[in-house]
Amino acid sequence: FFANLSHEIKTPINIIYSCFQLLEISKSQGENALWKAYCKYDGTIKQNCFRLLRLVNNLVDITKIDSGFMNLNFGNYEIISLVEDITLSIIPYVEAKNINVLFDTYVEELIIKCDPESIERVILNLLSNSIKYTEHSGRIKVNINVSEKNVVLTFEDNGIGIPIDMKDKVFERFLRLDNSFKRLNEGSGIGLSIVKSMVEAHDGFIFVSSELERGSIFDIVLPNVLVDNMPMKIYEFDEANTELELSDIYN
Ligand code: ADP
Repeated sequence: FFANLSHEIKTPINIIYSCFQLLEISKSQGENALWKAYCKYDGTIKQNCFRLLRLVNNLVDITKIDSGFMNLNFGNYEIISLVEDITLSIIPYVEAKNINVLFDTYVEELIIKCDPESIERVILNLLSNSIKYTEHSGRIKVNINVSEKNVVLTFEDNGIGIPIDMKDKVFERFLRLDNSFKRLNEGSGIGLSIVKSMVEAHDGFIFVSSELERGSIFDIVLPNVLVDNMPMKIYEFDEANTELELSDIYN
């Protein structure tokens, strides 16, 4: 864990420090050179600050989960537009990979008991994985199905898939199927364990079905219930959170 974690922490710090060194060199070459270098590296610095921030947020969450202090703010929220807004917010981030994002539901509006901040983290985590583990020109589909008892959120990709014997293990903390030094994607293996805990805190459950090189489907089942005697609340989804949660999709 500490070996993995120090790699995760050191990588963005090294990148930020390298950018700083390049800026220092440009500074000695005059204002124009400095400005050019700044415009070249500002995105990288920001992305790597976000990667660090996300890692720290995840570690704080793990600590809260372990100590039983994951206090969720439950209320009655409209889940369909919440899922749709979050899903559509990833579109600018998949353009470089030319991935097609589809959202589909036959229910237009449904209010359920949930903590929208955790639902947002859960969805962005699953979508971030779908982007990471789907090849160029792939597709990601998000569906919502509603029954009297449950709401099922389905996240499907046609990416690299998960070997059958590893299917349930992906929810274990710090598990990464590719931990090699030449791995293509960044990640700490924490995301899905937090997703599982957050879904279970909603009295829901998550399961995955997958076929190697065909893709993966993650289903989240949430109870279709309301908090008694509480009016519906509006959750303002902030697109800056998408940038933060998707900060490790490109190296
Ligand atoms: P990471 O930060 O490594 O992505 P996660 O906990 O989110 O950590 O995922 C654990 C592991 O599960 C990943 O390293 C990857 O091997 C596998 N995985 C997760 N989602 C997918 C997916 N959509 N397609 C293929 N593999 C996946």
